[in-house]
Amino acid sequence: MMLRRTFLQSLSLLPVIPTTMQLEHLTSMTDTFATTEKMPVLFIGHGNPMNALMDNPFTQALSSTGKTIKNGHKPAAILVVSAHWLTKGTFVCTHPNPETIHDFGGFPDELFAVQYPAKGAPEFAAQTAALAKEIQKTSEWGLDHGAWTILKHLFPLADVPVFQLSIDYNQPMQYHYDLARHLQSLRDKGVLIIGSGNIVHNLRLSMGKLQRGESDPYDWAVEFDEWAKKKIIDRDFKSLIDYRKFGKAADLSVPTVDHYVPMLYAVGLAGDREPIKQFYEEVTFGGMSMRCFQVG
Ligand code: ZN
Repeated sequence: MMLRRTFLQSLSLLPVIPTTMQLEHLTSMTDTFATTEKMPVLFIGHGNPMNALMDNPFTQALSSTGKTIKNGHKPAAILVVSAHWLTKGTFVCTHPNPETIHDFGGFPDELFAVQYPAKGAPEFAAQTAALAKEIQKTSEWGLDHGAWTILKHLFPLADVPVFQLSIDYNQPMQYHYDLARHLQSLRDKGVLIIGSGNIVHNLRLSMGKLQRGESDPYDWAVEFDEWAKKKIIDRDFKSLIDYRKFGKAADLSVPTVDHYVPMLYAVGLAGDREPIKQFYEEVTFGGMSMRCFQVG
């Protein structure tokens, strides 16, 4: 008898909560689980690997960009297209625990001791491979310094899984731009995609300045960096693909394409009317542009 009364009482409580409110509550919960906000895309001019250990205006710009992105919506994973993973064919790394690769020489032990212990993202890597027939899966990579030296500042807790896509070094510029367009749907799944290179990257002539104790930028470096900035803002991606037509400043700024190509992935991932925000610019060592921008 007692049991039955309790049951009736609890039933009588139900109408206290209006039905519409229950439905709204249910809808908002479903939204939280079902939809992921479209992730922005970043291009980062990474420059000197020592930036991993530094606190300067460049690394501060990375820190604040990472915080803003995370506060808006924490990425489900990060895909990095780095200038330092060059291959014959295009590969995506499926390793569940990518190692921190110290792919350089002549730097202090302190830099070799840096670890970025983020997990990999095998599921997202498999989804990436399914988006274009050109992309093959491999577990033979980790995180190179094009990835971890910047991630150290963008997401210092290493609490977002990271995976990399390689650059097929034999392909023309158009290939990279077109491939990037096939990857756009990853952004809707919460994947933050980062191109990591340098728009102007002439290491030989930069080292020459460094040895002479000079640091003023070369005229051609500023000229090409400004030209690229304008083309990005004007969304004239065709000119960025055909950058060789710009002539001598382009030849000096892009002596090899490895550091230029990641920028083409970033613009290739841009939606038709998406805003592109330049958030850092500097030409260091005479011939290295640290320009960074965010799409979306
Ligand atoms: Zn580099």
